[in-house]
Amino acid sequence: KADLDKGLEKTKEGVFSKLARAVAGKSKVDEEVLDNLEEILISSDVGVDTTVRIIERIEQRVAADKYMNTAELNAILREEITAMLEENRDAEGALSFEKRNGQPFVVMVVGVNGVGKTTTIGKLAAQLKKAGKKVYIGAADTFRAAAIDQLGVWAERAGVPMIRQEMGSDPASVAFDTLRSAVANDADVVLIDTAGRLHNKIGLMNELTKIRNVMAKVIPDAPHDVMLVLDGSTGQNAFEQAKQFTQATQVTSLAITKLDGTAKGGVVIGISDQFKIPVRYIGVGEGIDQLQVFDRKEFVDSLFG
Ligand code: GDP
Repeated sequence: KADLDKGLEKTKEGVFSKLARAVAGKSKVDEEVLDNLEEILISSDVGVDTTVRIIERIEQRVAADKYMNTAELNAILREEITAMLEENRDAEGALSFEKRNGQPFVVMVVGVNGVGKTTTIGKLAAQLKKAGKKVYIGAADTFRAAAIDQLGVWAERAGVPMIRQEMGSDPASVAFDTLRSAVANDADVVLIDTAGRLHNKIGLMNELTKIRNVMAKVIPDAPHDVMLVLDGSTGQNAFEQAKQFTQATQVTSLAITKLDGTAKGGVVIGISDQFKIPVRYIGVGEGIDQLQVFDRKEFVDSLFG
C-alpha cells in the first residue's frame, strides 16, 4: 500500500492540483469546469473515449443534483472511476498460476522493447518462487543478446532456471524447449518472454501464432494466459500498442509498469475500459517487490485518498 501510494503520487498531484485550480473560485460546476476537467483527464491519459464517458456521466449528475464544490466533484469522479473499473473486474486480480490438468501453467508475455517486460517477468518469477512454486523462464526474445542476458540476471536473482538458445535462434524453438523441460521437471509455472518487435502487423501476428502453435504441441491448452506488458508512462503509445497486440493475438491480461514517476496513471483506467482486458499487475518501482497485484479499490483509494 505504501509503494502504491508513493507510486501514484505524481498522478495524484498532477490530476488533483489541476482539478483544484480548475475549480478555484467557482461556486458551482459549470461548462468551464467541465471543459477543464475534460482537459485534465485527457492529459493524465485516461484516453479520449473514457474521458468522454466520464464527462457525460458527470454532466448528468450535475444536471440532476446541482453539485457545487470540489469535494463533491472529487467524490463523483471517484464513484464514476470505480464504476468503470468495476465493469472489467470479472477476471481481475492475480493469475492463479495453478497447474492445469497436471501440467504447468504457461504464461506468454508480450510487449514492445523497453516497456519493462524483462523486469516484470523477473519480479513475477521471484514472487512465485517465494510462494513455493517451481518456475521456469523461457528466453524466447532471441533478437537481442542483451535481452537474453538481462533476463538471465533476473532468473538468477529469482533463483529459477531459464532456458535459452543462441541469439537469433527460432523463438518458437526456445518456447518448445522450455515447455518440455518444465514438464519433465514437473514445474508449476512457465513464463515465456517474446520479442517485442512491432515491425508490421502480419509479422507480429505470424510470430506470436507460431510460438503459440509450438507450445500447444507440448501442452495442448497452452498458453493459459497471454500477458501484455505496457509502459504506463507512455500514454497514447500504450493505447496504440494495446491495439496492435490485441489485433495480433488474443491478449488475456495486462501488466502496466512504471506508474511511479508518471503523472499519467490514468492510463490504467482508460486501457482497462477501452479494451475490456483485466489489469492484473502494476509496476510501481524497479524493486522485486514493486510489482503489485492490481486491486481496483486500493488503486482508487490511493488516487483519491
Ligand atoms: P524490456 O525491454 O521490456 O524487457 O524492459 P526492461 O524490463 O529491461 O525495463 C526497462 C527499464 O524500465 C529498466 O530500467 C527497468 O528497471 C525499468 N522498469 C521496469 N518496470 C518498472 C517500474 O515499474 N517502475 C520503474 N520505475 N521502472 C521500471
